[in-house]
Amino acid sequence: MASFSNIDATAEGAMGLDAADPLRALRELFHIPVTSAGQDVIYFTGNSLGLQPRSTRNAVNEVLDDWKELGVDGHLKAKNPWLPYHERLTSGMASLVGALPEEVVIMNSLTVNLHLLMASFYKPGGLKRKILIEHHAFPSDRYAVRSQIAWHGLDPAENLIVLGEEENLDVLDESSIESELAENGEEIALLLIGGVNYYSGQLFDMRRITQAAHDARVMVGFDLAHAAGNVPLALHDWDVDFAAWCSYKYLNAGPGGPAGIFVHESHGNDPDVPRLAGWWGHDKTSRFTMPDEFNPITGAEGWQMSNPPVLSLAALKSSLDVFESVGMDALREKSIKLSDYLRYLIEKTLTDRVEIITPRLASRHGAQLSLRVLPGENNTISGRTVFDYLESVGTICDWREPDILRLAPVPLYNSFTDAFRFARQLEEAFRPEETSS
Ligand SMILES: *Cc1c(COP(=O)(O)O)cnc(C)c1O
Repeated sequence: MASFSNIDATAEGAMGLDAADPLRALRELFHIPVTSAGQDVIYFTGNSLGLQPRSTRNAVNEVLDDWKELGVDGHLKAKNPWLPYHERLTSGMASLVGALPEEVVIMNSLTVNLHLLMASFYKPGGLKRKILIEHHAFPSDRYAVRSQIAWHGLDPAENLIVLGEEENLDVLDESSIESELAENGEEIALLLIGGVNYYSGQLFDMRRITQAAHDARVMVGFDLAHAAGNVPLALHDWDVDFAAWCSYKYLNAGPGGPAGIFVHESHGNDPDVPRLAGWWGHDKTSRFTMPDEFNPITGAEGWQMSNPPVLSLAALKSSLDVFESVGMDALREKSIKLSDYLRYLIEKTLTDRVEIITPRLASRHGAQLSLRVLPGENNTISGRTVFDYLESVGTICDWREPDILRLAPVPLYNSFTDAFRFARQLEEAFRPEETSS
């Protein structure tokens, strides 16, 4: 953790950190929502919906104009022809997740992609039938894995292992995943874990988990909804089997933006991997001769089913360009500093009121801090009251019942001053109780 003890916890201290931040100008590339009083909100919800890059409108308008002027001919004659449009996003996306270009494609939405990938990589057979997920996995992932198990004619109650649920853990040690795999691996077919957990903000050691799973002959998939665009990833080198992520959180593609998938080349180059097919995954040279037989494109593109939403791809492309110009390493460096600074400010004054459940070590967290609001002495201020107060003073963050506030200081557009202002507001949120008691 970075040390801020030589930085005075004042507005001037925060301004000094902003002045010294080499990435401070990036904020200007985004639209920051404003309060009714015209002040920038403190936007700590980039883990839920990233802000709009200023370049997005033009990128989308280009597609709209081409459509207006060319109609169907835009597929081949648009400024950036729609037919291969998704290919423009491949290298930027591949480098963000540490993949070979052939291992990545943008298609559909996240939960849909998880299902399509499980259709290929969850193959319960013999004793090996179970799926292992983490406690506090995103609800959609739980629904998805349970329904996959049931769809194979198996009982989800018997075949889903939710690690950490019994103990109600906030954070899961990699060693507990390793022991589960070592002890029960012969019954486990698939491990599906959020690379960064949406609830706690915990960053898992994906290399280590993959290794342990493969040692137990278990397929490994990661849901990277909270990891893509947040932390550096090396999916290819880590030997991950598959992954999927959405693009509207840290990747700023806008609501419902198209999702990404990763299929390791060891599977992507194997035409015999079973899959649910559609014409967009078919060999490009013969796709429009409409042959009877499906012949998949080599690599992740062979998992495509439908032609993609080009307007949304344009929005995503404008955001990927920002990432490409900065680089994930520089973003990560600022991200750690920013979240450490926010943690420092909160812990300086509020340790009796909130507990930060996100792991402290930089290697174990991304841009998010999850705060548990502790019950006050006379219980007059609930977590929900705190959240409502923050909202009333122009902060957008996230509340999870019963007691978790999630904050995502995003290095692209959040500042140290945001962190400072937030910490002040949080203190004020607890103040009425203290004055009334
Ligand atoms: C946000 C999120 C989703 C959302 O799924 P969609 O299919 O994009 O609606 C799923 N899983 C995780 C882990 C998420 O964080």
